Amino acid sequence: MGKVTGFMDYQREEAEERDPFTRLTDWKEYAAPFSDDVLMRQGARCMDCGTPFCQIGEELNGATTGCPIYNLIPEWNDLVYRGQWKEALERLLKTNNFPEFTGRVCPAPCEGSCTLAISDPAVTIKSIERTIIDKGFENGWMTPRILYKRTGKSIAIVGSGPAGLASADQLNQAGHTVTVYEREDRAGGLLTYGIPNMKLEKDVVERRIRLLEQEGVNFATNTEVGTDISAEDLKAKHDAIILCTGAQKQRDLVIDGRGATGVHLAMDYLTGSTKKLLNADMGANDFIDAAGKDVIVIGGGDTGADCIATALRQGCNSVVQFGKHPKLPLARANSNMWPEYPNIFTVDYAHKEATAKFNKDPRQYSIQTQRFVMDDNGNLKELHTVQMEKVKDENGVFTFNEIPGTEKVWPAQLVLIAIGFEGPEPQILQQFEVHTNNKKVEAKYGDFTTNVEKVFAAGDARRGQSLIVWAINEGREVARRVDQYLMGSSVLPSYLEA
Ligand SMILES: Cc1cc2nc3c(=O)[nH]c(=O)nc-3n(C[C@H](O)[C@H](O)[C@H](O)COP(=O)(O)OP(=O)(O)OC[C@H]3O[C@@H](n4cnc5c(N)ncnc54)[C@H](O)[C@@H]3O)c2cc1C
Ligand code: SF4
Repeated sequence: MGKVTGFMDYQREEAEERDPFTRLTDWKEYAAPFSDDVLMRQGARCMDCGTPFCQIGEELNGATTGCPIYNLIPEWNDLVYRGQWKEALERLLKTNNFPEFTGRVCPAPCEGSCTLAISDPAVTIKSIERTIIDKGFENGWMTPRILYKRTGKSIAIVGSGPAGLASADQLNQAGHTVTVYEREDRAGGLLTYGIPNMKLEKDVVERRIRLLEQEGVNFATNTEVGTDISAEDLKAKHDAIILCTGAQKQRDLVIDGRGATGVHLAMDYLTGSTKKLLNADMGANDFIDAAGKDVIVIGGGDTGADCIATALRQGCNSVVQFGKHPKLPLARANSNMWPEYPNIFTVDYAHKEATAKFNKDPRQYSIQTQRFVMDDNGNLKELHTVQMEKVKDENGVFTFNEIPGTEKVWPAQLVLIAIGFEGPEPQILQQFEVHTNNKKVEAKYGDFTTNVEKVFAAGDARRGQSLIVWAINEGREVARRVDQYLMGSSVLPSYLEA
């Protein structure tokens, strides 16, 4: 273990961040790297407790607790404390294909279930993870792993998000010929066109795609399966197909005035903004610009926070975020005990930035939008809202009731709807004739087979909108399953059989 008394000798130090006001002038990552000696001290805080809850991922009360890819956290904490960064990298890569993504944007359910967090602040696991992999790239330890013998089997992966990339990486290393089909002009899925630059710079994603290409993975971008190539042709061309098409069908808010110019779905806004950054020659009408506008983000989650941070950088006049739920408590409620994911009030990077710019937290709680109102030209003019009360009915089920007399009018020229996702887009699933369950592809976890011969499914397309770390988990597991299907057995690792 790290230093025996480390957890008593050292306090948790939060990851450094660039000044919230200054960073609004650029689109670079808001997190700043830790120095080596701070991280070694943080690694020393790990108690190497007998049962490391941090590394055992599962779902408790509908939320993830522990690390879904079973990262060997106490082992690399100890190695970091001892300054053995290369050995720490080897341990990290045993379970995680892409620590440069999770080390930046994972919500770190591992930290919520860290044993030290019962009485003290958790070990800074996520920042340690990020630094190990960043050092790996900086020191030239991340070199292409070239295979000289191939199995002759050909696999198509539809979708290049973290699930598709993780399965491509595993199957390529198993010797198969892998082609990843992606309808966008760049690979990465939501890593590229979803999560904004400030959380994950796009050259970090591109660096990984280049490495996978050097190792032999083929990428067919600008190729929409179902349109540019049919399901039948894909099946004829490949020995197995994995659907990793994500769950990007957005939930809309269909109320009066929805057709007003200036009301948009969050993903259209975020995708356009990133495309504009990557393609400087894009026209002013090809993306949604918040410059000079009063912006309201409907939806209190992380996608909404990403919209706030983007609107601030574009130079919005004001920004407010509406949430349906009441403000979360500062400490865990009795119904949310360790090691569950802590449902507590936090201040996200975007909220810090909005506060720095406008001197107040942008969040409004327990609020419902009743209608949008447009001017004579059809442009959005204002929103009408009412406050809501969350109450338990006689069956113990929570419902939301309007509070009379709390109606309010909010001037706005841009509204971004970020109220979640409904599941995968159906067209591609219909073309493959795969069965769905609750709108998601029907494929049992651990098996990943669909009703269609040689067609598998993994990631958000199978489980619904989730987390990168779950997408990596599913990408690795489906790869092993496909390898077994093609070869009769597999030496690829499995979390299920660890
Ligand atoms: C705005 C936003 C922010 C997020 N932030 C975080 C975060 O900070 N941390 C975190 O852990 N998770 C975050 N998530 C969730 C995370 O990004 C997803 O859970 C994860 O990307 C799912 O991976 P996936 O590979 O299953 O699908 P996706 O990443 O959705 O990738 C699916 C890919 O399939 C492609 N595709 C679909 N249909 C076709 C077709 N017919 N032909 C070819 N290609 C096709 C799509 O273009 C896309 O590139 C965020 C999600 C959103 C929307
Ligand atoms: S991937 Fe996420 S849950 Fe796992 S160790 Fe890293 S930050 Fe924690």
